[in-house]
Amino acid sequence: MHHNAFFVKASNINEPAETADSSSVNIQDDDEPPSSCPTSQILSAVEQKASEHRKKKDPVLVFPRTRIAPTSNVTRAFRKKHYPEISNKLWNDWYWQVSHRIRSKQQLSAMLSLTGEETAAFENKERLLPISVTPYYMSLLSENDPDQPLRRTVIPMPQELIRSFGEEDDPLGEEKQSPVPGLVHRYPDRVLFMVNDFCSTYCRYCTRSRVVGHGELQANHLYLEKALDYIRQTATIRDVLLSGGDPLTLSDDRLNWILTRLRQIPHVEIIRIGTKIPAVLPQRVTSQLIRLLRRHHPLWMSLHFVHPDECTPEAYRACGILADGGIPLGSQTVLLKGINDNIETMTELFHHMMKMRIRPYYLYQCDPITGSAHFRTPIEKGLEIIRGLRGFTSGYAVPTYVVDAPGGGGKIPLMPNYFLGRKNDSILLKNFKDGLYQYPDSP
Ligand code: SF4
Repeated sequence: MHHNAFFVKASNINEPAETADSSSVNIQDDDEPPSSCPTSQILSAVEQKASEHRKKKDPVLVFPRTRIAPTSNVTRAFRKKHYPEISNKLWNDWYWQVSHRIRSKQQLSAMLSLTGEETAAFENKERLLPISVTPYYMSLLSENDPDQPLRRTVIPMPQELIRSFGEEDDPLGEEKQSPVPGLVHRYPDRVLFMVNDFCSTYCRYCTRSRVVGHGELQANHLYLEKALDYIRQTATIRDVLLSGGDPLTLSDDRLNWILTRLRQIPHVEIIRIGTKIPAVLPQRVTSQLIRLLRRHHPLWMSLHFVHPDECTPEAYRACGILADGGIPLGSQTVLLKGINDNIETMTELFHHMMKMRIRPYYLYQCDPITGSAHFRTPIEKGLEIIRGLRGFTSGYAVPTYVVDAPGGGGKIPLMPNYFLGRKNDSILLKNFKDGLYQYPDSP
């Protein structure tokens, strides 16, 4: 319910307030924000964007029901150029996609004009993280522009070999909070269960680059049973998040085995799967997979998307059938410098998420892993983005911005400051347009 009747414009306030952040606004005489303030810039940028969008009349993509995924012009052109002999059936077979990942310099340079820096980074064997890109995801990369956002997320740069101030291989202290290999028990009622260390496509900013792609976490029975035993014996665990690597790169049989074992544990109420599959390997989302997952409800998914260019017809199809399978979908997005660190890109991304029936869940400040300085933005950038979303678009499209505290402190939410302080029997608030309001609230 709205309480507009209780709000009073702050121009009626004559006395100085005890403000939480008194330097941020002059509540005595500033009724309207000055024209140069960031909010008015945000407002006009968002309004301009909305008007451009209306003019273009972009159709809303519906959820394709066809068995064969529709595709975009860029993917079609890429296939024609590099895989002319590959049938639709093979291209849409996820095993084919995984077994034809692009990993060698020879393959990469046939598809992209590599810069000297990219080549040098590729050839340096001290990289923590391997290089691998599915043919499908490669089709979304720009051949000639090394600054294209998706290209930057998967093609290494020499900076990833430089350890900058505050960076660590395990900044979140996961090893310290791991009672058995592959399990992180940080919060009281839930655990992170790393079921493998394999991903079809490796993101250069990966928080677990110390582990993923190294081939040490094999999803074998011995390894999995140790983690399952810990969960069985710890009755406080009601929520298990399967992660990795990417759990959806496991075969249906192996995934079913893990989910069945978890479902046999009475205190496990919720199972979640963290995956980037709909963005990098949407072919993996088959009707057989959905039938399997449906057997293990309540099952939730956190999907990793970082840029609107990932929201292709193939990704729409994959998310559509996951949602039709009754799986609540949330998104996780990492804030990345030069990739998605502006309000327009984030607005477009989260609008796609909503159309794909994914609730934008977390916007992560990029973790200070070794070699991440070129991806990290100042915290103020994340706050500015949240400020440019809140009020300017659907509340459901606004994720929670979090910093995962170094050393294992867990996720800490950050919000722009809308609470200005208390004045007698009221609190003073600022709305999304910097309008000042007073709400009656006795201490
Ligand atoms: S999909 Fe996730 S686990 Fe895999 S490389 Fe990307 S961020 Fe890391």
